[in-house]
Amino acid sequence: MSELTQLYKLQRIDLKIQEDRKALNEILHELMEPEVLVAARIELENQRQLLLKTEKKRKEQDWQGKELKEKADKLEKDLYSGRVKNSRELANLDQELKSVNVKLRAAEDELLELMEREEELDALVKADSLQLRTMEQDWQQKREGLLEREQEIENSMGHLVKERRGLASAINPQIFKLYEEIRERKGQAVVTIAQGQCQGCRMLLSTREQQQVKGGNLVQCSSCGRILFSG
Ligand SMILES: [Zn+2]
Repeated sequence: MSELTQLYKLQRIDLKIQEDRKALNEILHELMEPEVLVAARIELENQRQLLLKTEKKRKEQDWQGKELKEKADKLEKDLYSGRVKNSRELANLDQELKSVNVKLRAAEDELLELMEREEELDALVKADSLQLRTMEQDWQQKREGLLEREQEIENSMGHLVKERRGLASAINPQIFKLYEEIRERKGQAVVTIAQGQCQGCRMLLSTREQQQVKGGNLVQCSSCGRILFSG
């Protein structure tokens, strides 16, 4: 293999490594948990907390209603037992019973509202849990695919780096150094010639330059400095 062909081959490996590195970066970015999933998890947790709060409130309201009911029952019993004869006392009892009954009705209305709210929240939490589980399963599947692809690329890169090392060691150290310098500066060190033009900078090359390249000589483009290769 001529030196130029070796350099050209080295260039192709380097471009492939560059591509792999870019793909790996993209995968790394994609491996971050989607924001929509994080948001859905937080939303569900908030709903759960709200459900617990509502449940607690409903239980308290239930107790309060029972207490009022007992109180009303007792007052009613006293009122109609016949034990109390004093008309003023009776009027007081009647007044108190009315007041307790008003509170009892309000407590019952409140309890009904809380029960409805609790039921709604419970249904919401159940539906959202199900949806979140589906989202998590989808994400897990995608993640596994990405990890698999990441492994493939890493394997490929491992081979390429090894191949590069072997190839580089066979190239004249000075020429290799030149290659690396141009690559660092221009990103790509070896370019082909098409229609008499350097494919790195589109500069028209002289017939003499083209002949030299064809003859297997190491020629750098006089405009961009890249190493020319005639293929
Ligand atoms: Zn050029």
